[in-house]
Amino acid sequence: MDHFSLVDGALHCEGVPLAAIAEAVGTPVYVYSTATFERHARVFREGLAPAGDVHLAYAIKANPNLAVLRVLAREGYGADVVSGGELARALAAGIPAKDVVFSGVGKTVGELSTALDVGLGQFNLELEEEGVVLAGLAAARGMRADATLRVNPDVDAGTHAKISTGKRENKFGVPIDQAPAIFARLAGLPGLALRGVAIHIGSQLSELAPLEAAYARIGALVAELRAAGHPIERVDLGGGLGVPYRAGEVFPSPAEYGAMVARVTKGWGVRLMFEPGRVIAGNAGVLLTKVIWVKPGAINPYVIVDAAMNDLARPAMYDAWHDFEAVSPSGARMTANIAGPVCESGDTFAMARDIDTVKSGDLAIFRTAGAYGATMASTYNSRALVPEVLVDGDRFAVVADRILPETILAAERIPDWLKA
Ligand SMILES: *Cc1c(COP(=O)(O)O)cnc(C)c1O
Repeated sequence: MDHFSLVDGALHCEGVPLAAIAEAVGTPVYVYSTATFERHARVFREGLAPAGDVHLAYAIKANPNLAVLRVLAREGYGADVVSGGELARALAAGIPAKDVVFSGVGKTVGELSTALDVGLGQFNLELEEEGVVLAGLAAARGMRADATLRVNPDVDAGTHAKISTGKRENKFGVPIDQAPAIFARLAGLPGLALRGVAIHIGSQLSELAPLEAAYARIGALVAELRAAGHPIERVDLGGGLGVPYRAGEVFPSPAEYGAMVARVTKGWGVRLMFEPGRVIAGNAGVLLTKVIWVKPGAINPYVIVDAAMNDLARPAMYDAWHDFEAVSPSGARMTANIAGPVCESGDTFAMARDIDTVKSGDLAIFRTAGAYGATMASTYNSRALVPEVLVDGDRFAVVADRILPETILAAERIPDWLKA
């Protein structure tokens, strides 16, 4: 459920007409709903209640906007970060360092050091050497770094190849068959407090079965590690729960997910950790855009909008679908292609789509753009960096500025030898 709906024939976000945001801020612009973020955060937490002792770490990479992080911090969420930049955002939003988990396959020595210095809650180690280096950095500070070992369970998440992370050939985690030996070696290092294991098998999962299979493998590994004498206190089950991108699609609910987790992890006696991203943020945001032209096409007309692949990369990157709706629909429908102004054929949001009839100057939205939207934006084609707006009831605020091409140009320079 979200808070983007028609009121008197015009799309609103909560109590604010989207047309008012377009008027004040211009387009394209991402619009986020506070009430939707809060609702998703609560429904996810309630869904996991049957699973017992749970720590929730919002995966910042899905939507790292500072105001969004603040909303989730207020909901008691910690954070899952994958870079020093994300760690800085979590702290700036008021998320305590002890509630932050550091994931990622390429943490640098600089990032590991900074995280130790701020009192990070948990490092999810991706390879043995990383653990050895971290242990050395911690020992030099007279500390023990809290960590888990990320395991690759070799499970096919059944999702898009570019967001699958739990197969043997993916770059993430240590192979599950080598995990006991690596765990034993790392557990012996004085600078490390190795508290358990972690997994994350992919994103936009539409079924629970691959998650359940992965969790079962982790359960067997936990038993094996305990039998070898390791006290296992934490298991991080990652993120990955998918969301509907098309009206009418049905996905596993947080309650169904929580029931499965409770069943599979029964008797583990650990603190379970979760890193939800998309399921919290996806349907809490839309990309608001304006139609520039309706251009006749060979088969169907092209609706050319002022948002492009640099603002919302998912269709070009993952062949993703985003529902498209007019902000003031007349009730008439048309079949059209939807594309942006960027000079790439890949800058196409939809082909032969049945949509609200729109004409030049009309406002429209791409739905389910709250996750992996603005955060993946670029300035390709020397376009502005897309701004973000947060709505709360009947008020709204710009929470990320539109960075104009001239600002980006000002950071570039011509070297002396080219000046003459
Ligand atoms: C991306 C990622 C997540 C979040 O994935 P979602 O599909 O958005 O829930 C969680 N954990 C790790 C380690 C990730 O890389």
